[in-house]
Amino acid sequence: MVPDSRFDVAVIGAGIVGLTSAYYIKKNNPDVNIVVIDKAPTYAQGNTARSAAGFRDMFSSELNFNLSNSTIGFYRHVQEELGHDVGMKFVGYLFLTSDDDPRLKVLQKVSQRSKVRTLDAEALSHYDFLRTKIDVETKALMNLKDIDLGVLGENCGTIEPELIADFYYNSAVRLGVKFLFNTTVREYRLDPVDPLDYPGEPFLWQKKHLKKLETNHGDIEADIFISCTDVWTTSLLDPTGIDSHIRPKKRQVFQISGPSVENILFGWDQNKEGVLPFTILPSFGVYLRPAPKAKSLWVGTADDYNRDYSFNEEPDAEREYYDNSLAQVIQAYFPTMSYPKVTGMWAGYYAYNTIDGTPYIFKDLNIIVASGTSGSGILKGDSIGRIVEAVYSGKEYAELYNGKKIKSSALGIENREVEREEFII
Ligand SMILES: Cc1cc2nc3c(=O)[nH]c(=O)nc-3n(C[C@H](O)[C@H](O)[C@H](O)COP(=O)(O)OP(=O)(O)OC[C@H]3O[C@@H](n4cnc5c(N)ncnc54)[C@H](O)[C@@H]3O)c2cc1C
Repeated sequence: MVPDSRFDVAVIGAGIVGLTSAYYIKKNNPDVNIVVIDKAPTYAQGNTARSAAGFRDMFSSELNFNLSNSTIGFYRHVQEELGHDVGMKFVGYLFLTSDDDPRLKVLQKVSQRSKVRTLDAEALSHYDFLRTKIDVETKALMNLKDIDLGVLGENCGTIEPELIADFYYNSAVRLGVKFLFNTTVREYRLDPVDPLDYPGEPFLWQKKHLKKLETNHGDIEADIFISCTDVWTTSLLDPTGIDSHIRPKKRQVFQISGPSVENILFGWDQNKEGVLPFTILPSFGVYLRPAPKAKSLWVGTADDYNRDYSFNEEPDAEREYYDNSLAQVIQAYFPTMSYPKVTGMWAGYYAYNTIDGTPYIFKDLNIIVASGTSGSGILKGDSIGRIVEAVYSGKEYAELYNGKKIKSSALGIENREVEREEFII
């Protein structure tokens, strides 16, 4: 075993979810001896590093609204009151929609909770780079929708995930949380609680628990294990017979640059930053995310059909997907955007909860699982950490930063109290 290989709590995964979980457990239980283990050389190297790094509190489910609204409030507090810059820019999220979009009703519901402004066709026509009426032929060929309305969420924008990760990592280290990097957990294997030292244990009738993690640096024992391993959760949990309830879905981001991109990026005048909001087109969920420091836009979508659930440790972004699918849709709405350069691209995975699109936080035996972030784990990260802490501490409710109380069991399996989320981007 590695030196100091016995802990009260072992958190596996040092992405945003592992960092917030470790931080809140240690903060509220100062005497607990916690280790965070990650196979990467440092923290926030998994999907936390590959995201489009947008934040919004525009969700169809009230629970997701609260998870995100509270997290945004806390990140803002970190940036504005604690003076730790996390790169938050309140550029807004602009949902462009058509009169016959079935999501219009949902947007209306969302508008009652989130701080939004509506931009009608006339207000949008002010932006001559945006085409709101698609010609009949293109519309028919590509199944595109016109833009009749924009709904601009104002408590939304972009963030730098590595900076918010720095905040939780440094705060956790200061409280005494230990980190072990370059340490790969092979799998979770259950042991008997009261071993008889008999071959083939544990038997059906023996109480079981996870006693230790086998890693490339030896065994690590703990009383409680917190699995914050995102899409890797399924393969780690599988040998135990506990279901992760998630599936991986590849997601890609393409960075585009050039004069025609800059005209659009800096051609918006309705936020302090003077940049295009995080914009979602009415067709196929295609989005454009401003990256003004690099004078670029990031584009992507949450595609569904023909995007299988396979998993590859190092996924590649597919340039032809940009050329043949995304670029065509973007060009239809932004006709002045002529052949921008693709100056970067990357891919990662959403850990999808395919049933309700909302995170899972549940305890089985002495393992707490926090996963299923379904493409919005950064913008809900603080709330997830607080709920993991409540589950760990056996509290009936977790109190979020915005003062809302969430039942600790609400995101669990047995007593789940979640509506299906309709706004997965
Ligand atoms: C293209 C893309 C765009 C996205 N856009 C957004 C967005 O705009 N806003 C938003 O909020 N979210 C977004 N997301 C989702 C967001 O990135 C995730 O929800 C979030 O990062 C999940 O955090 P995590 O800590 O659960 O996972 P991760 O950051 O993936 O952390 C899991 C960690 O577990 C470690 N690990 C795995 N297996 C082992 C093992 N066997 N041993 C040791 N360590 C292990 C990994 O190394 C990793 O560091 C996006 C994701 C993608 C891919």
